[in-house]
Amino acid sequence: MPHSASFLTSRPNQWWISVSSSIAGLPAAPGIAVGPAWRFRPHGLASVAPISVRSAGEAEARIRAAAETAANQLTVLARRLSEMDRPGEAEILGAQAMMAVDPALIDEAVRLVRRGSEPVAAVLAAADASADLLAALDDALLAARAADVRDVAARVVRVLTGTHADLPDKPSIVVGEDVPPSLLAEMPAGLLLGMALSGSSPTAHAAILARSLGIPAVVAAEGLLEAIRGHAPIAMDGESGEVIVDPITADLQSLADRQAVRGVRDRAAAELRGRPATTSDGQRISLMANIRSPDDAARAIEAGAEGVGLFRTEYLFMRRKSPPSEDEQVAAYRRAMEAFGPDRPVVIRLADIGGDKTIPYLGRAEEPNPFLGVRAIRLARDCRELLLTQLRAIWRAAALTGVTPHVMAAMVATVGDVETLLSLRDEARAGVAEGAAGAAESAPIPERMVTGVMIEVPSAAMMAPEFARLVDFFSIGTNDLTQYVLAADRGNPSLARLQDALHPAVLRTIAAVIAGAKEAGIRVAACGELAGDPAGALVLVGLGVDELSVDSGSLDGVRAALAGFTGTELRALAAKALASRDAETARGYAKELIERRR
Ligand code: PEP
Ligand code: MG
Repeated sequence: MPHSASFLTSRPNQWWISVSSSIAGLPAAPGIAVGPAWRFRPHGLASVAPISVRSAGEAEARIRAAAETAANQLTVLARRLSEMDRPGEAEILGAQAMMAVDPALIDEAVRLVRRGSEPVAAVLAAADASADLLAALDDALLAARAADVRDVAARVVRVLTGTHADLPDKPSIVVGEDVPPSLLAEMPAGLLLGMALSGSSPTAHAAILARSLGIPAVVAAEGLLEAIRGHAPIAMDGESGEVIVDPITADLQSLADRQAVRGVRDRAAAELRGRPATTSDGQRISLMANIRSPDDAARAIEAGAEGVGLFRTEYLFMRRKSPPSEDEQVAAYRRAMEAFGPDRPVVIRLADIGGDKTIPYLGRAEEPNPFLGVRAIRLARDCRELLLTQLRAIWRAAALTGVTPHVMAAMVATVGDVETLLSLRDEARAGVAEGAAGAAESAPIPERMVTGVMIEVPSAAMMAPEFARLVDFFSIGTNDLTQYVLAADRGNPSLARLQDALHPAVLRTIAAVIAGAKEAGIRVAACGELAGDPAGALVLVGLGVDELSVDSGSLDGVRAALAGFTGTELRALAAKALASRDAETARGYAKELIERRR
């Protein structure tokens, strides 16, 4: 809830009171940002009021002018994206610019206003008619174009009514109840200073994406939307979870002081970069990075990642109109493998599509409970070719780089799912080998692909001993595991108290997974957000996890935390956390240990 701070400010001959309000949310990505608020409204059109015009002639002129302006905006954005070397997105916006002035859309809207329709309603009705025609053609690609037509019409309406823009026109802090991960991924980097949401949660994909973009984020800031006024400035601290609306000088000073203190801490942690991650008595832990594109590799390597523990490849499928081709994927995986070289593995996760990461062009029906629906490996039934293409691309990239490929799948729930992964993997290799047989010259295909499964579903944890006999490694996805063990939607801010992965029920599940893995002699990694939280990393290592895979921005903090304790201390911490009654108590033990060492 907001609380206010007032400050008496003076200027010659003038006294006034300025007031800021501070709102407590949950920290979601570290860093401090100050800038204008830019409000994201997912259903912006629902609240658009009709506009009044004196004649059909005026209505027509305003629609045509709005369409021109929308087209110009889109062209500028497309140019900016192409300058930023983001050709895929540039192409989409370029095509939308043409749609904005497409006679099929605009002439129909004009026809409707001539017959007495109100202009906003006319543009929306014209777009609906055009989109329905495309959607009825029963083709996934054209269905995606239908969404574009509606998107373009929404922009024209916003220009027409003078309501907010689709993207901020200057560097801003994105504010809203929630934002889809694709919006953040789509936003030109320089425009995004931070993200402050009244909803969402630290393990929702929007927050994960903010961390991987290095953008401060606060979520579940209740009361935020009521407190902000238009584009008024806000300040936010992604480490404490505080958002300040209309910050005054004293607020900014306090944030600058915090930043200075953290700077000292972070510089000390960064000094350990380049050294292997160990506990203070020399227990070695592999410290890997989570990435979502080969573009993230440089940042990960600079932060001392020993490889990639989770390449979230579904991001390669976003911001486009059709899946990336096999050759495009070969190029992406090859770039990541080359960046890390032969000695630092890159674990490629097969696209985890579904849940809150939907891909419109796949044309999949909406599901009532997407997190319990057809997600990740479950796509093998209806989208088999999509997974096979990915696996063929991984084999080919490995052949071209001479690197041993590593793959894993998410949402694995049954032994049958594990077998599906293995048979897709082998079928893909056979396909690549067959293609290579006819080629004049080709690189040798590796004999094996190191294959693992993510453990994020309770049934997978229960079946760990059986799974462990079939695969080379486990990677525990603590975000989904927590969601499924506690039956609490990871994106629902009202369930924040059920979303802490340090809950003993989750820890006991993890302990069972580790026991199953150790019995079969396979390695266990953890790649959910708990691994990047120093308190969580200490408990996970105490439980016996061999590897932590975290966002690049969290590598220094985790490495420094581990270096402060012996393996024995961490095992004792894990034992206490396992025996605790709730997540707060378990977290309290970890905090106490960390504080004692300071
Ligand atoms: C997880 O669930 O912990 C995980 C790492 O996968 P994602 O967050 O991408 O669902
Ligand atoms: Mg997951």
